[in-house]
Amino acid sequence: MRVLVLNSGSSSLKFRLLDMLEGGPQGEPKPGRTLISGAVKGIGGTATLELFTEGVGAPKETQSVPDHSTAIRWVFDHLAPLSQVEAVGHRVVHGGERFSQSVVIDDAVLTEIEALSELAPLHNPASLAGIVGAREVLGSTVPMVAVFDTAFHHTLPPAARIYALPHELAARHQIRRYGFHGTAHASLVAGYAAFTGSTLEKDRLITLQLGNGCSVTAIAGGKSVETSMGFTPLEGLVMGTRSGDLDPSIVSYLAQREKVDASEVERWLNEQSGLLGVSGRTNDMRELEEAAQAHDGRAALAIELFCYRARKYVGAYLAVLGGADAIVFGGGIGENSPEIRGRICAGMEWCGLFLDVERNKATVHLPPGSAAWISQDAASLAAYVVADDEESWIARETVRWLRSSPLSSPCEGED
Ligand code: AMP
Repeated sequence: MRVLVLNSGSSSLKFRLLDMLEGGPQGEPKPGRTLISGAVKGIGGTATLELFTEGVGAPKETQSVPDHSTAIRWVFDHLAPLSQVEAVGHRVVHGGERFSQSVVIDDAVLTEIEALSELAPLHNPASLAGIVGAREVLGSTVPMVAVFDTAFHHTLPPAARIYALPHELAARHQIRRYGFHGTAHASLVAGYAAFTGSTLEKDRLITLQLGNGCSVTAIAGGKSVETSMGFTPLEGLVMGTRSGDLDPSIVSYLAQREKVDASEVERWLNEQSGLLGVSGRTNDMRELEEAAQAHDGRAALAIELFCYRARKYVGAYLAVLGGADAIVFGGGIGENSPEIRGRICAGMEWCGLFLDVERNKATVHLPPGSAAWISQDAASLAAYVVADDEESWIARETVRWLRSSPLSSPCEGED
């Protein structure tokens, strides 16, 4: 089955058309060839389209793209013939209380995802535009599946799930810790399992997804039991432009002092804080590493804070899990920066974590879907890097759910 994966971010749209084959482990579908992949970046203004056909890049295109619907149509212009798209998997950020698993999209599901935009005004509208836009172009006969970022964290136990707010108030407004980046953490776990041959039942893992957005998850027996993002993706680690954890009193204090409303402060916390805010320079870790080497004190401080916060969470999750078997790095920073991995793990020998300097240094730019081992042979807490392949994971979920749905025809084997 040929599956198109659409991953709509607030100003970007990643896409990948891939062949899904039968015959993966435990009878699961497995990813085959990627036919077309790419991304539209800069939605909301002048955007660029990067396109790769069978891995070969085409010249970048640029045009004005005011919204996600325009971006979708632009992408579909390059996917001819459209008849090759047999199913679509959409990454949807917020599934709320309602969606604890992926779901085949019908009109009722669409309405429910729309209603969830209230909880995730910065994120769900983009996914929704992706679904509606794809339906407009492909018609309603091509089956589509929504894969939720929150679903993987539905297994959080009550103490990890709730905030210490008045119970009725929290319930009335559906305020709880949902957790995000679920597809990324699930694919880190799957990558670890494939690399080590683990069945996951007994493993305690700490997965660190370190990209522009960052989160960490504690995983026991393959299930998420604690995660750093909460009601929104703002909680937790220091990220590219998000502050992560802070004292909530800062919001009203800043709003009063700067004579703005709370939503403006929230925007600062989401868009102007984190690595960007502390360094005053950039949210790009590569540039920060270079600047810090050139003795830029604020760049160095931003990196130090980033690594310190991540290490603090790893320590907390070791306590949550009662020790761990492995930590797994993913995301643009986690996959490609030996320096940051080394600094996060520095001084963690007390819990058996000893990175192997050479293995760590050699592990950059892994092929998508592959993994590497970066700790010493004798380390009792092992460390791995997984080049997480979120799109393949979404495609796998799409086939899995279409197979089990009475609404759709069964998939044909193509192995
Ligand atoms: P992502 O959101 O997963 O695409 O990750 C984006 C982040 O990864 C940015 O901060 C990049 O600077 C960072 N990144 C990508 N490659 C490298 C690298 N070689 N060294 C350090 N950071 C990197």
